[in-house]
Amino acid sequence: MAEPQYDRCGSCGEEVTSDSDFCPHCGVIFEAAGSVRCDAHPGRAAGGICIICRKLVCDECGVRGHGRTFCREHKGIEVQQDWARIFQSTDINDAELVRSVLQSAGYTVQVQNFDSIGFVWGGGGDSSLSRSALGKPAKIFVPIPEYLRAVKTVQEWNSGRENSDEGGLRK
Ligand SMILES: [Zn+2]
Ligand SMILES: [Zn+2]
Ligand SMILES: [Zn+2]
Repeated sequence: MAEPQYDRCGSCGEEVTSDSDFCPHCGVIFEAAGSVRCDAHPGRAAGGICIICRKLVCDECGVRGHGRTFCREHKGIEVQQDWARIFQSTDINDAELVRSVLQSAGYTVQVQNFDSIGFVWGGGGDSSLSRSALGKPAKIFVPIPEYLRAVKTVQEWNSGRENSDEGGLRK
């Protein structure tokens, strides 16, 4: 079996396999893919692909943000490198719960602002560090290709909670 060949995306500079029709990092469609049509408008050329759901989008259906293409449904998602933010909360307990739900479902997660908030919540005192951390929500990221599945996992878990007496997470 041949080793996969890699090229650099001309748009974002990330590595892509040389037989790709699009860049999964930024959503640009390569010229070699030929003419590609928007999923919602078959009469229009697609200018890119949503990096979250991989829908083909024309200029009207797509939104560029931070050098990447999103569909309108997914344009609000915060993305850092190849990670998408699935959850954020200033309540560290909620954030810890969601993290453990995702981890026990087998997802790789990255978190931000967990330690600093935990420090404050743990009675760490009134240092300038802890005060500045207070305004920052704890964030949980999953790899972009796993994002849509992970959202479902969290939703299913959350609706299970709502049906119990404990009550669900406030969105
Ligand atoms: Zn790219
Ligand atoms: Zn999308
Ligand atoms: Zn369209």
